[in-house]
Amino acid sequence: MESHESTLLEKFLFRIAKQWIAGNTMEDALQYAQDANKKGMDAIINKLGERMTSKDQIEDTVSEYLKLVSSLRKFRISGGISVKPTQVGLGKSVKDCIENLEKIIEKAMVSQSFVWIDMESSEYTDDTIKVYLGLFEKYERLGIALQANLKRTERDLKALLEHGAKIRLVKGAYRESKNNAYKTRHEVDENYKKLTKILFLDGNEFAIATHDSAMIDFATSLAKRYQRKFEFQMLKGIRDELKPLLIKDGFTISEYIPYGTNWLPYSIRRLKERKRNILLLGSSFLHSHRV
Ligand SMILES: Cc1cc2nc3c(=O)[nH]c(=O)nc-3n(C[C@H](O)[C@H](O)[C@H](O)COP(=O)(O)OP(=O)(O)OC[C@H]3O[C@@H](n4cnc5c(N)ncnc54)[C@H](O)[C@@H]3O)c2cc1C
Repeated sequence: MESHESTLLEKFLFRIAKQWIAGNTMEDALQYAQDANKKGMDAIINKLGERMTSKDQIEDTVSEYLKLVSSLRKFRISGGISVKPTQVGLGKSVKDCIENLEKIIEKAMVSQSFVWIDMESSEYTDDTIKVYLGLFEKYERLGIALQANLKRTERDLKALLEHGAKIRLVKGAYRESKNNAYKTRHEVDENYKKLTKILFLDGNEFAIATHDSAMIDFATSLAKRYQRKFEFQMLKGIRDELKPLLIKDGFTISEYIPYGTNWLPYSIRRLKERKRNILLLGSSFLHSHRV
């Protein structure tokens, strides 16, 4: 009985999670990525999971990404992938992570796909930047995410831009302490705008990754003044009404598409980002139990 109930609960949660993830398998992600391309967006595919330390798990993840980047070409998908450093060995060593990522990037180059490095919690920031700079010397189609909620990010951004780095600017998804992070929404937003301005002044080929209309409007107004190659990036299933409008206005949009069986922590993160999502979850749970 108990296992029947937990299967039902899992099915219910998976139905909710499906708005943010492509499905359990790589094929689900490739198919969804094709749909995103048809809608005029580039696709950035991510295999869910992080903080991996077992050798087998890391090797499996690297093999899966290798298969994924090869498939991008076969499926004629425009875009690339995004990898979390701790999926490919950062929890063990910078060296392991660089070696593993390099294998993936080599393959991605063949299919002319772009590789993004996600930024995880602040304990990994220094090492992630080290990994990025080590690889960016050799591979141009490589970008790194930076988080506006961290106080250090302005310094990191300026230093990375001196190397010509390709930056994805996000607000930051990890809980951080007030010693190293801005805690109020106002502070994070103000810093996001400040960093966006730096990108328009000194960056090129960067990504404004947010669903926040205020941040997007700020970037579109800067785009009128500064001719820069940049794109907006948004997650699958969020602000779907806005994406076609931005495309219509001539902006490039990439959609970040996660997949994999490890969908629960990712979906909880998305749920927490918006109070209304929790209410929606509650009401659809009630509805699903009425039938
Ligand atoms: C392409 C992409 C890549 C990312 N990569 C990273 C990364 O590498 N590292 C990292 O720490 N974080 C990453 N993030 C997550 C990011 O840090 C934020 O946690 C997330 O984007 C929410 O912040 P926001 O900028 O949308 O602004 P918010 O202030 O959270 O939201 C602004 C508005 O957007 C809408 N919105 C936001 N979230 C939702 C939601 N879940 N459901 C419905 N509406 C919503 C609402 O209208 C909300 O008022 C990434 C985000 C994107 C879009």
